[in-house]
Amino acid sequence: MYALMFINVLFLGIDTFRDVPFGMSFGIPIALSAAIVARAAIWVRRRSIIAAPKDVQLYLRGTIITAAVFSIIFGSWGAFLFSENEPIRSVSISLYIFVGAISCCFCLQALPLAGYFVILFGIMPVTIQLLASPSWSLASIGINFLIVTLLILRTLSTSHAGFKHGLQARSDMRFEQDRARAAERTAQELAYQDPLTGLQNRRALTEQLDMLTVRHERASRMNLLLLDLDRFKGVNDAHGHGVGDKLLQSVARRLKTIVGRSGSAYRLGGDEFAVTLSPSSDQVARSLADRLIQGMATPFPIDGFLHHISASIGISEFPSDADSRDSLMQYADIAMYEAKSQGRSRYSIFEPSMGQSLAARAVLESEMRADLCTNAFQPYYQPIVNLASGRIVGFEMLARWERADGKPVGPGQFIPIIEECGLIGELMLKLLEQVCIDAANWPSDLTIAINVSPVQFRDPWLSEKILAVLTKRGFPSRRISLEITENALISDPIAAQRIIESLKNQGMLLALDDFGTGYSSLQHLNMLPFDKLKIDHSFVHNVDTDESAYRMVMAMIRLANSLRLSVVAEGVESQSVFETLQRLGCQEVQGYLFGKPMNMADTTNLLQTGERRPDWLKNDAR
Ligand code: C2E
Ligand code: CA
Ligand code: CA
Repeated sequence: MYALMFINVLFLGIDTFRDVPFGMSFGIPIALSAAIVARAAIWVRRRSIIAAPKDVQLYLRGTIITAAVFSIIFGSWGAFLFSENEPIRSVSISLYIFVGAISCCFCLQALPLAGYFVILFGIMPVTIQLLASPSWSLASIGINFLIVTLLILRTLSTSHAGFKHGLQARSDMRFEQDRARAAERTAQELAYQDPLTGLQNRRALTEQLDMLTVRHERASRMNLLLLDLDRFKGVNDAHGHGVGDKLLQSVARRLKTIVGRSGSAYRLGGDEFAVTLSPSSDQVARSLADRLIQGMATPFPIDGFLHHISASIGISEFPSDADSRDSLMQYADIAMYEAKSQGRSRYSIFEPSMGQSLAARAVLESEMRADLCTNAFQPYYQPIVNLASGRIVGFEMLARWERADGKPVGPGQFIPIIEECGLIGELMLKLLEQVCIDAANWPSDLTIAINVSPVQFRDPWLSEKILAVLTKRGFPSRRISLEITENALISDPIAAQRIIESLKNQGMLLALDDFGTGYSSLQHLNMLPFDKLKIDHSFVHNVDTDESAYRMVMAMIRLANSLRLSVVAEGVESQSVFETLQRLGCQEVQGYLFGKPMNMADTTNLLQTGERRPDWLKNDAR
């Protein structure tokens, strides 16, 4: 348009040169051309920028004003030239003006108001002069101009409506496209995100592992850490799913903070999480695992409670352990189970031997389930001796499993598995019933100690179930002493306290087992009505030779005395340990020195041989 205007003005200027005063044939065209070039330059510059909507409005307003100003100058100049020339020259001048203005109108279709100004100020002065001319031929040209102008006006308005419609449709389409793209993005995010914690989910992990294992092509090392929370189920069962969810969210936040930028964190479902480290090294993976274990073992405050959980972590490595996504996951899982079986709140790094032990464990588990219906599990009895009298005052029942191949398996091996399968309650009640039968004819002052696993305190009906067995067999509850460890009081102290108090109310005795190995908290001793404290074997076995063990045992005995609890020292194997304990004022002892755990027949035999003094004491010179 600007080029057209420029040519038009130039030609009109040349055409009328010398016919009119110099300023009109030279000055005006030069001024107009300069303005046109300047305006064109502004337009060219703006073509390359994406203007903000409010700037666009400003530019359009500027175009309308410029169109009006240019048209006024152009139209007035045309009218002047028209009036200054003879009729035949005026026709050509009016044609220059008309064609030039009409062409500009076409170019301004998108902005009809600017077009209207061009018509009004550009064409109308000359047209009016033509119409007012006494010459019929000039007037008829004016009429023609008028008709064409009206037609152009109409075309301008309809084409502008079409242009607006087209623009609207295009903007609607873009809006819809943006909306569809945003919806797709959200769907994509949801598909890869865990809704509860906001961490990435299992699907994201699988794809990430695929990408890493393919991309790295064994060039650099990558680690996968699988993290499973310990004792989470206890919190969930005792405090409800609301608290469980909040706990998982807190765990996720802590996990994210600890991992930071060193890797990516995922929630795989339930209380299972994962971390990928790439690139990684043995040291990086170990240090992160250490920090995670520490972080998860720090209590979580939720709704006024402090929740104590911990995490077990399994670590596998690409490419040295595993060469694909599936094997990486499987090996990390195996290592995680290894960490759990080693006592939780620890990590273990995958080793090929772990796979074999896992398979062996699976065999053990299925055999155990079958044997629970038979007599393969039997109660063994280990004497507990009063130090002052040297007489047996009771027995601790210790479970033994006689497998089909004749090999006896110790509780250290099968109790953790049976706990994990949720069968420990069933086993304990079965053994308790056998105890009631075995001990029915033993002297009635003998107490039998029964170990209660911490896992059993998750069962709100535990005390009712124990009582039901005692009632069924008519066994007096005062002859049963329940041994519990401090672990039972950790995950849900209130539920444990309720169950224990109900058992205590039925007349059973209560012993705190393995004292000194766990939390050894005074609060736990105070919290429950314990009758006995059992000092762990690890302090007792060298009490006669090790100064610090001696002092520990002495402190424990004093503590128990001041709380009016009787003390049982476990694991007494030698006479010198026995004598040391005697000097320290310990009340009861238990250990190989007085007898190993025996089956029912041997125990009954021992009791029938008179004095109820173990052989070693009978031969004692005292
Ligand atoms: P515990 O309650 O601390 O039982 C004492 C353990 O020390 C027994 O091991 C016993 O045989 C062993 N012991 C006794 N005197 C000596 C000694 O002089 N020297 C040494 N080195 N050890 C001695 P056991 O029978 O292998 O039982 C291991 C653990 O398994 C028990 O530790 C107890 O926590 C658990 N357990 C055994 N039977 C049951 C059961 O019926 N239910 C539950 N929940 N746990 C049980
Ligand atoms: Ca015990
Ligand atoms: Ca013990």
